[in-house]
Amino acid sequence: MPRPQPLPRSLVRPLVQGLHAYVPGEQPRIRGLIKLNTNENPYPPSPRVLRATRAAVDGRFRLYPNPTSQALRERLAALHGCDPSQVLVGNGSDEVLALAVRAFVEPEAGCSKASRATVQYLDPSYSLYPVLAAIHGARTHAVPLGPDFALPAITASTRTKRGGWMKDAALSLVTTPNAPSGRGFTNAELDHLCRNTRGVVVLDEAYVDFAREHAMDLALKYPHVLVFRTFSKAYSLCFQRVGYCVGHPELIEALDRIRDSYNVNGLGQVAALATLDDLPYYRRNFKRVVTSRERLTRSLTDLGFSVVPSQTNFIFVRPPGPPAESWLKSLRENRILVRWFRTPGISDRLRITIGSDKEVDRLLQVVRKLLRTRPQR
Ligand SMILES: *Cc1c(COP(=O)(O)O)cnc(C)c1O
Repeated sequence: MPRPQPLPRSLVRPLVQGLHAYVPGEQPRIRGLIKLNTNENPYPPSPRVLRATRAAVDGRFRLYPNPTSQALRERLAALHGCDPSQVLVGNGSDEVLALAVRAFVEPEAGCSKASRATVQYLDPSYSLYPVLAAIHGARTHAVPLGPDFALPAITASTRTKRGGWMKDAALSLVTTPNAPSGRGFTNAELDHLCRNTRGVVVLDEAYVDFAREHAMDLALKYPHVLVFRTFSKAYSLCFQRVGYCVGHPELIEALDRIRDSYNVNGLGQVAALATLDDLPYYRRNFKRVVTSRERLTRSLTDLGFSVVPSQTNFIFVRPPGPPAESWLKSLRENRILVRWFRTPGISDRLRITIGSDKEVDRLLQVVRKLLRTRPQR
């Protein structure tokens, strides 16, 4: 095989040369591994979804899928009580997040008003947000969360002061319930945030099915608010990559204009539609996950962990004794994979996805063993 010749660096845009790519959680192939690192659902999709998807595996593969995911848009609109023109389906909600940055935010170069080139988000939250802003050449404004990961104070007079909420950022991305903390925000808090923000506000509800409240009403009430949902986590469909957003038809149209023509693959559309045919199956799973979450929270608290009360399918914990990174390693040696972020402020914590009852049992068993055998600080 001929070796590629060295490429002059100058062929790649300087902005791209300097980018740090998003780091997804690992997907290792280790036999018997208990995978609690990427917030996947421990339960499989509904049998109906698997049947519908298998039935779609045929000669239709040679055809392009529906370019607007029309049937799915209509079903989602009916589900949320809005018009199909208020729904956009994407190749996972990650795609729709990228579209929102491109549609609503100016690149910093050549933009005379800083706020128009600013992507605002809470810190810590979904680590993809700053990456998307960087790819676009936009400014970022990270607003620190308060004690116990609470929303910071947002007042009508909030100015662009360092660390404060920017009222007029072009795009504000709010993970709610929050990740990686797992903490939920109330609709009253979110309503207040939306009323005090002039740019586009995205409420990223990736985990909302495990929460007490959802904020879909805000997307239907305020023209500048979009609610993002995904089939990945709660609906056990990460593999198929389907997410969507709901909001004002003019914002949806803007996203529609810049997306790839066939952005959602055909099997994904089929699987998502079949998912909506069996919502009771998923609601039972949400209950099981929430029950396991509460049990794991209680048990780890009793073992000396500090656990943030969660409204998601994961918990964010500060383990006792050795540093979080060595817990990550010891758990991995016992074939349990959790997530640790090498990020200042949260590097003393682990994010643990809620697994099946058996997986939770095994995790607790290993944690007890480690507490017995490891030196304590
Ligand atoms: C997982 C996740 C997403 C991405 O979901 P996909 O639909 O799989 O792209 C978006 N936002 C948050 C906060 C997430 O945790």
